[in-house]
Amino acid sequence: MLAAENYQDIEEKILKGERLSREDGIRLFHCPDIAWLGAMADYVRKKKCGDIVYYNVNCHVNLTNVCTAQCKFCAFGREEGEKGAYAMSKEQALNLVRDAMKDPDLAGLHVVSGLHPTWTFEHYLGIVKALHETFPNLYMKGFTGVEITHFAQISGLSIEEVLIRLRDEGGLQAIAGGGAEILSDRVRGELCPDKATADQWLEVARTAHKLGIKSNASMLYGHIETLEERVDHLLRLRELQDETGGFQTFICFPFLPKNTELGKRVKQTSMWDDLRTMAISRLMLDNFTNIKAYWVMLTVPVAQVALGFGANDIDGTVHKETILHDAGATSPTALSENQIIRIVKEAGRIPASCDCNFNIIKKYE
Ligand code: SF4
Repeated sequence: MLAAENYQDIEEKILKGERLSREDGIRLFHCPDIAWLGAMADYVRKKKCGDIVYYNVNCHVNLTNVCTAQCKFCAFGREEGEKGAYAMSKEQALNLVRDAMKDPDLAGLHVVSGLHPTWTFEHYLGIVKALHETFPNLYMKGFTGVEITHFAQISGLSIEEVLIRLRDEGGLQAIAGGGAEILSDRVRGELCPDKATADQWLEVARTAHKLGIKSNASMLYGHIETLEERVDHLLRLRELQDETGGFQTFICFPFLPKNTELGKRVKQTSMWDDLRTMAISRLMLDNFTNIKAYWVMLTVPVAQVALGFGANDIDGTVHKETILHDAGATSPTALSENQIIRIVKEAGRIPASCDCNFNIIKKYE
């Protein structure tokens, strides 16, 4: 490969499998040659995980959008009583999944919700338990580090006790990656001061991994963070992954400004920024196996191109996404499995459906 001018040293490190430094990460964000960056990330992806692209046949369950945190980048959260606010009953949650079960290949649930001001931890747990008991064959992935921190705060239990109860009573098999946003006190202090801090989010992941529960990681970028803060975020995740090895996939979420307070002063990221961030994530997170192109936020065409910029995971069928569509996502609210298979095959790769722990269910060579 012909390295971009002044980037030969980084290319050499990548080809030798050497770890990139903070300084390297920052330089990559200024690299003018996006094609070279993509080629580097694709080289590492191929070497590390081959040509399989993972996806889930799953259903998203968002129990409530009522949330005490009111993050400035969020279009989903509402105050109690506000127009559009909802809080599902147990029966409504069960009915949503019954409807999704019309797809005979449905394999699992992804449960994330707002921080409801009056729901107790027992209430959340009761709904998840009912879902797990009614649909024992569906895998259960759910709750972010933010929600789990909230459950500990409102119940008086430790993070470990909350996780054990979610696992043992609610059937929780893996933790969702959201809520990491940018792991910086400066950014969180300005955008989301009323929810888990960076350290608390990391502590949930650390505790879960020690209990043998895998989790995902994410980064919400393209708002008020600096490029240095993006790199530092990746380094904090890399450091924890060195310690525990418990992260399964990393998801880049570009900020979607529509219907958010922050959107009045911040524009949406460009496709180039999305692809660059995807590629740099693959290069910096050398101890993560999977990097996800989340089609809901990126749009389907950009997610397909992102498969050539380091990604090997394209999320899933989703079955009615709502959180990001409130923020103006223009992608469909769901894709069929056949659509996902086609998208992956068109990118020249091998689609494989998997459970929430990346065990392959079906592979389409
Ligand atoms: S991002 Fe999550 S915690 Fe923040 S307001 Fe939205 S739903 Fe609540």
